[in-house]
Amino acid sequence: MSHPYIKIARGGKVKVACIRCGRCCHGPNVSLTAFDVCRIARFMGLHWRDLRGRYVKAIIADMIAIPVLQSVNGICVFLEVNERPTCTVYPARPMKCRLYPFLPCSPSQVDVIYLDECCKGIGTGELAEPPWNLLEQYCSELRIHYIRLYQLVFEKGYEPLQALERLIDDAYMEVSTSP
Ligand code: SF4
Ligand code: SF4
Repeated sequence: MSHPYIKIARGGKVKVACIRCGRCCHGPNVSLTAFDVCRIARFMGLHWRDLRGRYVKAIIADMIAIPVLQSVNGICVFLEVNERPTCTVYPARPMKCRLYPFLPCSPSQVDVIYLDECCKGIGTGELAEPPWNLLEQYCSELRIHYIRLYQLVFEKGYEPLQALERLIDDAYMEVSTSP
């Protein structure tokens, strides 16, 4: 089976600009970090707990609860489907969405990145380097998210969902008090 991702190292350039086809907002639920959840809540003027169920849900696998965006009929709950698909939380969209069509290779690798060949914007726009700063921020948030979550579950004995909620509560305090 061929790999649908192209690996790009620092210094490499590619032509890709979003043409707002909305394709990447259909399909598997977007996974989030606690920081993503808090930014979306703050943008919507809600407490993060008000997002539960309607906008965000948790998938539990191997004692770890993974927060993901809700979808309706396979379409992200935040996508407004009209002539031009629009993300209704665009300024606060998850890091994964900001980075796409690029994806991390692993949370500790910030000098290489994957480009998803399925993005319809490939070949358009200016020749440019991938968004390395964004990759670094995302990987840093991912590492913090999972280090804290694993500590809560495997060291402090929280149940998976309790651990996730505690983690987001803490992040919510941090995000609410940051400028
Ligand atoms: S698939 Fe690519 S071009 Fe289409 S909305 Fe997503 S990022 Fe933009
Ligand atoms: S949050 Fe916005 S950009 Fe991300 S999948 Fe949903 S509609 Fe698309």
